[in-house]
Amino acid sequence: MPKYLTLTDYAQITGSAPIKRETHGWRAKCLQRLVRMDMPVPQTIALSFGVVREIATGAQMNLRHLLGHFPQDQLLSVRPSAEHPQWGGPAAILNIGMNDEKHAQISAAHGEPVATALYLRFVQSYAEHVAHLDPDMFDAPDPCLPALQAALRDYEMEMEEPFPQSPAQQLADVLRSMARAWEGTSARLLRQAKGAPADAGLGLVVQAMAGGMGTGFSGAGLIRFIDAETGAPTVAGRFKTQGINGMDAMQNGQDTLFMARDPRGPSLEEHCPEAYAELLQHGARSRERLREEMEIEFTLDNGKLWVLDAVTVPRSSRASVRVAVDLANDGFIERDEALMRIAPKALSEMLHRQVDPQARAEVFVRGIAASPGAAIGRIVFSSTAAQACAARDEPCILVRRETTPEDIRGMHSAHAVLTERGGMTSHAAVIGRGLGVPCVVGASRMEIDERRKTLRAGSHVLQEGDMLTVDGTNGLVLIGEVALLEPALDDRFATLLDWADARRDIGIRANADTPADARLAREFKAQGIGLCRTEHMFFEDDRLTLMREMIFADTPEDRSDALERLLPMQRADFRELFEIMQGQPVCIRLFDPPLHEFLPHSKEGLRFLADALNKPLSEITRRAEALSEFNPMLGMRGVRLGVTIPEIYEMQARAIFEATAELARQATPVVPEVMIPLVSAMREVELIKSRIDAVAAMVRSKQGMDFSYRIGVMVETPRAALRAGDIALHASFLSFGTNDLTQMTYGLSRDDAGRFMSDYVQQGVFPEDPFHVLDLDGVGELLELGAGRGRRSRSDLTLSICGEHGGNPESIRFCRALGFDYVSCSPFRVPVARLAAAQLAIEDQ
Ligand code: PEP
Ligand code: MG
Repeated sequence: MPKYLTLTDYAQITGSAPIKRETHGWRAKCLQRLVRMDMPVPQTIALSFGVVREIATGAQMNLRHLLGHFPQDQLLSVRPSAEHPQWGGPAAILNIGMNDEKHAQISAAHGEPVATALYLRFVQSYAEHVAHLDPDMFDAPDPCLPALQAALRDYEMEMEEPFPQSPAQQLADVLRSMARAWEGTSARLLRQAKGAPADAGLGLVVQAMAGGMGTGFSGAGLIRFIDAETGAPTVAGRFKTQGINGMDAMQNGQDTLFMARDPRGPSLEEHCPEAYAELLQHGARSRERLREEMEIEFTLDNGKLWVLDAVTVPRSSRASVRVAVDLANDGFIERDEALMRIAPKALSEMLHRQVDPQARAEVFVRGIAASPGAAIGRIVFSSTAAQACAARDEPCILVRRETTPEDIRGMHSAHAVLTERGGMTSHAAVIGRGLGVPCVVGASRMEIDERRKTLRAGSHVLQEGDMLTVDGTNGLVLIGEVALLEPALDDRFATLLDWADARRDIGIRANADTPADARLAREFKAQGIGLCRTEHMFFEDDRLTLMREMIFADTPEDRSDALERLLPMQRADFRELFEIMQGQPVCIRLFDPPLHEFLPHSKEGLRFLADALNKPLSEITRRAEALSEFNPMLGMRGVRLGVTIPEIYEMQARAIFEATAELARQATPVVPEVMIPLVSAMREVELIKSRIDAVAAMVRSKQGMDFSYRIGVMVETPRAALRAGDIALHASFLSFGTNDLTQMTYGLSRDDAGRFMSDYVQQGVFPEDPFHVLDLDGVGELLELGAGRGRRSRSDLTLSICGEHGGNPESIRFCRALGFDYVSCSPFRVPVARLAAAQLAIEDQ
């Protein structure tokens, strides 16, 4: 039996009415706050979630009670009021109560055109939203009397009944259709995507339409008190004479005024200084009392101000930071609240150029958003071409099937990188994030023809040299040059992060391989380097040849000779990093990749190498083939190289300790951390540790300098996590390399997963790409086991994570809960991590 709703089910919004956001929605609550601030809000009635639900299921409405709250013949509006503004709701409907009789009355009082505009607008929105007729049919460019008559006729023809004339019936129909629209599938899916629970309710707000069309100075407008892009204080907005709501003012047509004085045209400030001054007061008061920057929708009726509504100003990330910091500095909110108001991800948007959301763009192909930011450039298909572009100062986009360590200089030269293969932890993705270069990987719908130098996706074929825009934030590749927005850092950004540092209780370090990375790490206030991948240091031209000499050495003496020449270069690398980091910890990972990555892959390259090493091509080819492995990521790499070719790690250890001793001599104490990669057994650590200790003793005695150092293990095989208890007996720290650990836990190649990851996620096999969001159930359990077992055998063991997950707020939450000492992530993610960590500490309180 449907319920019969009565007067008690409607709440008139007064200062003391029992209106709550959780029962009546944000708009009703906000209006009540405006009333409490003595703003001139027209008479308003709020319907709770419960009442709206009853209406949707067919409850009868006794609208005489509701209408009794308003003067007779009062035109009304109905607006949605969900618990959160982002959850949306059905379109607002205005001018309820317009009918033939009212049209005649208003024509007599204010002129026929005013009455016709009001009536036509109501018929149009009623036809579209309540009767669900085709809106195109009612689309009249000019609101004149014949257009109104045609609309009423079309309505009657389609509906086989005249347009409803009873205001009570109109209101009942509007309420019912809005209540039902909320229950529709697409509305539900849309709001759930914005975080609304499945049973989120809708409130409705019925309000008296307040003037705007009087014969004196009348109209409607929107006013805000900040610049929506920067957050800086300014008065902005528009006013339309004879408009009936704020949206009219934004149409920018005839009769619109600027809000404040403006050289481009007349303003409300000049035309109605009293109302303007009153609005400024309301703005200041709402900022103080609502602790937010509000956009106020208002009308003027013969000069009398009415406040219809207020919403938080929609704003850019940069403006959000500025507003939060300014409100805290003005004492209106606590610093903790300012920190909680900013989504960590918003900070990463501020660090890079972004595609202008207003820009028109055609998508060429979609892929995985691997490194944020956007860039425009010409297509090139090789690293050499990218370097040539850079030399000509021409922006380019490096397009590769996938990148390899050989592409590193090409990536440095490119403005963005696009690959057909790969996932969140593939080479291109990791390096792109490290360099701050926008990157889209795994664009598997695109085909590269390297011979013809073309790129095809669907029906589009692009040539080398054509322009592309890469949107690494959203994983989109756009055809041609699309408008970008510049990054926008200001002192509020630094202030907010300083506040975050004062609150957080987990360390944040950066993954940094080069001096440029290290400088960025310091700029973003990382507390040291958590992972320096040393292999990148060997890809410079002069070093690459020496590396190759070392790899092809015939005797141990030849090998030592090549390493001896690499030593001063490595020492200089480490010294520079130590100097930049000024005594902060620097964790250096010993050589990790398989050796064949340093060999040329083309015939031409092999020939060049044979020349350089003065060896026959056949021998170079044979030995290069001998080094190739079926499964190199599970082969001769990491500590396995350290165990079998000890000279490499010994050279690196010597370079680290000699650089340390040099700095110690200059009174810059450094305590380097030496990290062993890809460990799976305790004995590997024992062996390497004893050799490193011996190198340290040798450097100490040769240099006559004492220094400290720490040796630790990178936990990136499942076995290392399981055996963390005995491994920790020989390690002062464990750092979880969750890229390889994810790869090995799933048995899923990090370089190939991009090919099917989107299918897997779409079909719900994986909730998310585990290379992007740490898999807490599986990989996470290994972290928990490893951390617990490690700490049980060594209570002072330092624990951290240095895989790409280190910068994700969810991973930080998990690692913090396990008692990790720090997380390490690429420098550009350090600000995000600092804020996310602070929010966790605040939440815990
Ligand atoms: C890892 O495996 O998580 C890691 C950080 O090392 P890399 O990405 O260099 O293999
Ligand atoms: Mg690894």
